[in-house]
This record gives sequence, structure tokens and C-alpha cells, in this order.
Amino acid sequence: MKNIILMGAPGAGKGTLAKQLKERFKLVHISTGDMFREAIKAGTELGKLASSYMAKGDLVPDEVTIGIVKDRLSQDDCAKGFILDGFPRTLAQAEALDKLSNEINRSIDVVINLDCDNKELIRRISGRRVCKVCGAPYHIETMKPKVDGICDLCGGPLFQRPDDNEEALKVRLEHYTHDTKPLLDFYDSKNLLVSFDSLVGAEPLFDEVSLLLHKI
Ligand code: AMP
Repeated sequence: MKNIILMGAPGAGKGTLAKQLKERFKLVHISTGDMFREAIKAGTELGKLASSYMAKGDLVPDEVTIGIVKDRLSQDDCAKGFILDGFPRTLAQAEALDKLSNEINRSIDVVINLDCDNKELIRRISGRRVCKVCGAPYHIETMKPKVDGICDLCGGPLFQRPDDNEEALKVRLEHYTHDTKPLLDFYDSKNLLVSFDSLVGAEPLFDEVSLLLHKI
């Protein structure tokens, strides 16, 4: 059983790695971004609130985000181990997670940080395409689908996330630097942080992280 936090800037490869680790280690994948996108699709009140922040690249307020993670992490399936992808993103979220994980006896085993330089993040995000049906990620240059605009896995149409535009990306990167990056020190001081170079590419990165997880 492994409880993992995945950290890294937008475009560092958290989503891709989380999907691979979920399969390999049979973990529950908890992506707050995916949860908000599902709520938007379903047209719920949460979705309406989240989309007003997401479209601009801003963070959804802490109390809302912490609330949905609390509900999800407390569910029975998370007892087999989980990957938190995109949470926590602020110190308040990290502190709330600390408290919650102690309360429910599901403490964090490791925080995996993916390092990536800004130029590469911008290249990845601006070329990113996502399957509308299953969420599989592609890139217009480096991870092309077999048929243009169509998902290899499920045949769904590919699209560009509305917050993957230049303006929203700038705001997201600023939030990462100011709000999220300081959490690396927070977890390092707890001896939980292990950093990887995401520039090696998705497959080598997955192998390196898997090796680490087999040891803990
Ligand atoms: P992601 O899919 O992780 O890139 O998240 C997409 C967007 O969802 C972010 O830019 C935020 O607007 C929102 N979001 C996701 N996770 C969080 C979080 N932990 N705290 C606040 N907002 C979040």
C-alpha cells in the first residue's frame, strides 16, 4: 500500500505518470483538476464555481478544494493506496491534508516532484491535446495520435483544454511559483520529498519512479 503525492508545474507530466502508476501499483488516482472538469461537464454548482477560476488559470478556493479531497480520500477504495495529482497546491491545503491523513490513518509515504524548465513546460502545454472521452493525453509534435484528432485508445475526439491557452498558462505558472513551489520545502523538511528530472521523457521517468516505489 502506497500513499503518494505528485508535485510539479503544469506540464511537468503529473497526469501521464499518475495514470501509469495507477495501473502498475493498483492505486486510486485522485486528480483535483479532473474532479473539477467532471463537475463542469455535469453542470453542477461546484462545476460552475470551479470554471470561473479555472478559465483564468486561477486556483479554486482552498475551502472548496479541501472539501472535495476530504470526501474522496475518506472513501473505502483509498485504503489500497492513492496518488494525489494536483493537490495540495497551497500551504493551507498541505496543512489540511496533514491533519486529514492523520485523522483517517492514511499518511503520505512519499512526495514525488517532477522538475521541468519553463521553456519545456510552455512547449508541452501549448501543444497538449486531450481526449474528450477518456482524458488520454497527446501532443501535436511529440505524442501524435495514429489518426489526426482521434484518440488511439477509445476513438474519442481530441481537444485543447480551455485553460491551456497562453494567457491562462502564464497565470497558472505564476500560481505554481508563488503558491505551490514553497510546498517542496514543506515536504523536504518532513523527509518525504524525492525529485526527478521530467525531461528524460515519460517512459524512463516511469521506470525511475517505479524503481523507487518498489523500495518503499
Ligand atoms: P490541473 O488539471 O491539475 O492542471 O488543474 C486545472 C485547474 O484546476 C487549475 O489550474 C486550478 O484552476 C484547478 N485546480 C486543480 N487542483 C487545484 C487545487 N489543488 N487547488 C486549487 N485549484 C485547483
